[in-house]
Amino acid sequence: MPVLVMKFGGTSVATLDRIRRAAKRVGVEVAKGYDVIVIVSAMSGKTNELVGWVNETSPLFDAREYDAVVSSGENVTAGLMALTLQEMDVPARSWQGWQVPVRTTSAHSSARIEEIPPANIMAKFDEGMRVAVVAGFQGVSPEGRITTLGRGGSDTTAVAFAASFGAERCDIYTDVDGVYTTDPRITNKARKLDRISFEEMLELASLGAKVLQTRSVELAMRYKVRLRVLSSFEEQSDTAGTLVCDEEEIMESNVVAGVAYSRDEAKMTLVSVADRPGIAASIFSALSVGGVNVDMIVQNISEEGRTDMTFSCPTDQVKRAEKAMDEAKTAGVINFHELIADTDVAKVSVVGIGMRSHTGVAAKMFECLSAEGINIKVITTSEIKISVLIDRKYMELAVQALHDAFELEKAA
Ligand code: ASP
Ligand code: MG
Repeated sequence: MPVLVMKFGGTSVATLDRIRRAAKRVGVEVAKGYDVIVIVSAMSGKTNELVGWVNETSPLFDAREYDAVVSSGENVTAGLMALTLQEMDVPARSWQGWQVPVRTTSAHSSARIEEIPPANIMAKFDEGMRVAVVAGFQGVSPEGRITTLGRGGSDTTAVAFAASFGAERCDIYTDVDGVYTTDPRITNKARKLDRISFEEMLELASLGAKVLQTRSVELAMRYKVRLRVLSSFEEQSDTAGTLVCDEEEIMESNVVAGVAYSRDEAKMTLVSVADRPGIAASIFSALSVGGVNVDMIVQNISEEGRTDMTFSCPTDQVKRAEKAMDEAKTAGVINFHELIADTDVAKVSVVGIGMRSHTGVAAKMFECLSAEGINIKVITTSEIKISVLIDRKYMELAVQALHDAFELEKAA
């Protein structure tokens, strides 16, 4: 029988009532003839509580025990979901990650899935079981210890199962009804997209549209898993939600698919560094060793052999960046006059695969921002994305103006 993967996020399993509602949806797919793999998150808020307990018990915790504790929220919902299905006369059982097994690396708290052998679950489907309920977010290391996949990791569990079992589709049930052209809280003109390509979704996910864990989109793209994002609070229909799929499945699309933003960026400028070969290497390797995730980089023109180097990083890494730069300076690896941290910035990006074949997107974006009197501090581009760093107080205005300029309220 064809296999379908259905993933229910924390809000969709937050109470027994909601678990019942989710189980009914599973029942509908079973009745259509699918064997279903259900991936569950912990009840919403549970994982935060567990993480809090670990931190309170042991600030410099053993990551193996962190995983032992933090993975437990999903065990509860997996068992409850299986029981609920059984009450509905749907043959179901639960599986923890190690039982499947979901084999992962041993990078505790951020492990990667290496392999999910389908044999055990398939054998049960062959015996007449119709639903395998699997605890998301967890696996087992080569050493036999429980691992977790990083926050939001049950999306990745779901996609990995869909890839391993050759599922027809992977439905991600969440508390929003799909992927939007931008955040509907910023403009009520935001429009739900029927389809979006893997590449665009990957950019939007990594830019902070928190619908899907970025890693799950990477995996879906690599294995061409069709992903559908939909709300578990709305009526079920075959066209509900947003399908994340290969661009070949998208006939018409706007040049720009969406506008994304991130509040959580800081602009860091190293004033007056020597302009000579190897200096960028020294700066950015020191930052990387210091655990700083650098995003945008600009080097200014140089004067008399000195230049300014600007980069952006998440605001909560500013202290780390300052420490790494001070240490590199003390060690004599780099020399700079001062490091200026500007934490009142935001990043706004336009994303669309149409940019590959259409010119003028950058010009239109910059004209739009200039018409609003918004100064651009840093610019970066990729094949399908243009990002700018601006003053944070203009962020919402920029998103609204760009959404209007690219007419995203209208479908292609
Ligand atoms: N429960 C985990 C978390 O809150 C994993 C997930 O829900 O995806 O991060
Ligand atoms: Mg999530």
